[in-house]
Amino acid sequence: MEVDLLVCSASQLLTLASHGPKSGSAMSHLGLIQDGAVAVRGGQIVLVGPTAEVRAQVEAKEEFDAFGHVVMPGLVDPHTHLVFAGSRVDEFEMRLRGASYLEIMVGGGGIMSTVRATRKASLGELVEESGRRLDDLLAHGTTTAECKTGYGLSVDDELKMLTAIEELSCARALDVVPTFLGAHAVPEEYKERKDEYVQLVIDEMLPQVKGRARFCDVFCEKGAFDLEETRSVLARAKELGLGLKVHADEFGSLGGAHLAAELGAVSADHLVFTPEEDLKALARAGTMAVLLPGTTFGLGEGQYAPARRMIELGVPLALATDLNPGTCWCGSMPFIIALACRYMRLTPAEAVSASTINAAYAVGLGEKIGSLEPNKMADLIVLDTPDYRDLAYRFGGNLVTRVYKRGHLVWPRDN
Ligand SMILES: [Zn+2]
Repeated sequence: MEVDLLVCSASQLLTLASHGPKSGSAMSHLGLIQDGAVAVRGGQIVLVGPTAEVRAQVEAKEEFDAFGHVVMPGLVDPHTHLVFAGSRVDEFEMRLRGASYLEIMVGGGGIMSTVRATRKASLGELVEESGRRLDDLLAHGTTTAECKTGYGLSVDDELKMLTAIEELSCARALDVVPTFLGAHAVPEEYKERKDEYVQLVIDEMLPQVKGRARFCDVFCEKGAFDLEETRSVLARAKELGLGLKVHADEFGSLGGAHLAAELGAVSADHLVFTPEEDLKALARAGTMAVLLPGTTFGLGEGQYAPARRMIELGVPLALATDLNPGTCWCGSMPFIIALACRYMRLTPAEAVSASTINAAYAVGLGEKIGSLEPNKMADLIVLDTPDYRDLAYRFGGNLVTRVYKRGHLVWPRDN
């Protein structure tokens, strides 16, 4: 069989082959093949196995010898807010000097400062600034990223953000999965009329993002949206055919995780303070827990999500960056893996499962990406090490030396 690309002789080839999201002990199984190879035709994987076996069956137009390297699926980042304008570095320094969240809010900081900057930015400016962040994700091995709206908070500005996400997905090598997060915060002009804002999200925004956003997400937290408001937004989104996600239990618990399980959400995200009962509900529903250790680290907090307990209970786990200007300006999934192993006690294998196949299921694409199996998209990365555990062990640099998207080398660019 003639193929476009053969990546062969990998010291370790991680297939992550799986029939569904991984939970429990399955998260430790990476489908590791020593001296492995993968063959690609028409952007899709056609063969995976030991190099000698694959080579015997294919005639390759192009070949890459990955001896001394790890070859694995492209990383998937299932929770980002990477489209925004401006910076909150001043606020970061104020926090380091001891300013409280309230003082920063009174000074005009916090999420509303990003909303003001994002509203002010033109579509072109938004695409340009955010595109540079996407390139950074790609350089660190991410081949698909989810991205939320939620810094517009008006009909026009939310649609502008959604258009920016769509343009980025078309123009850049990564695929970007759009999520509508109109219920991220209550904008200043609705401060005393929160009910009206929730109604605006339900009656005007949701029908307009239908067919464009793949998911609807709500920030269910004290100071954002309560459980009933979250329920009403998500219920309408479900009627309109959007998949559901919930920001739940980041600073406390309002029951958002339980609601996610009840409504059949694809994922519940953050889950730092989720009660045991709600974790069990997630396990029963098969709702993915998307954990964001970079946010806890970014805030300099000490309490991380109880990942080990989740694995014991059979909750499928994914990892994500949560890339955003307030709490975690980080586009590196390998750094998130390094944090997850240290502070949430995931093993390197579990963290790799959480960043590939499970992350793919967390964005509804588990049948297309996230593992190296025949008929899946040929999204794969090459690491400059023969041992995949280095992805967790070594940090602060970048072990990703090659990124292939649909079988095309997209990083480094000048190769
Ligand atoms: Zn978030």
